[in-house]
Amino acid sequence: MRKKLSVVVSCYNEELALRQFYKETSQVLKSLPWDYELIFVNDGSQDGSLDILNQLADEDERVKVIAFSRNFGHEAAMIAGLDYSSGDGIVCMDADLQHPPECFPSIVEAFQEGYHVINMVRTKNESAGKFKNFASSSFYRLINVLSDVKFEPNASDFFGISRKASKVLKDHYREKVRFLRGYVQNIGFKRKNIEYEARSRVAGESKYSIKKLITFSVNTIMCFSN
Ligand code: UDP
Ligand code: MG
Repeated sequence: MRKKLSVVVSCYNEELALRQFYKETSQVLKSLPWDYELIFVNDGSQDGSLDILNQLADEDERVKVIAFSRNFGHEAAMIAGLDYSSGDGIVCMDADLQHPPECFPSIVEAFQEGYHVINMVRTKNESAGKFKNFASSSFYRLINVLSDVKFEPNASDFFGISRKASKVLKDHYREKVRFLRGYVQNIGFKRKNIEYEARSRVAGESKYSIKKLITFSVNTIMCFSN
């Protein structure tokens, strides 16, 4: 039987990006040796995202939509997406095409080689701007001093995970305040790093305000240190 890839995408007010995201990802997904499903988690968007997603699901049976009753944040959206995924391998990614779909073939290849965790490592993130890049590197320096667990500074919310490894996340890492990309790096399993160049956001603006980022950083430090 053909294997299946589940692509899990969290969306918050992404009406400007979704159609292009769907078009570009589908194009690459169709070329893969695996079947696929595209799971969109609408994280309580106030714009037309949900309508667009429902339309896509009507037109394409490989599109699935999970809709939250309000905004719960990217982390909660990823748990929901993992819960509903049925693939042999799962890819988590953002909806703004900053995570290039051209990486899917190398992710699937890594699954076929027996890797369970495929860490997509950003080599360049020009679109984030100097401040965000500085804040991000300071955050990683701090947490790596405070925590016993070591974090890869350029890890992103773009990663591949096998069904087996995702079961560990589903069963044991369900805290409401969490740091999925930190857990992914620390659950063990045979793992591989693949580098990618982050693109610019295809449309719309970042949904992470400075305030949200600070809250997120403080929460993460609390979760992973004594
Ligand atoms: N997102 C979400 N809920 C939120 C904020 C963001 O699901 O409360 C999604 C957003 O739609 C995107 C991903 O999380 O798919 C990353 O957000 P964004 O691109 O705004 O962050 P940045 O890349 O600027 O750090
Ligand atoms: Mg983004």
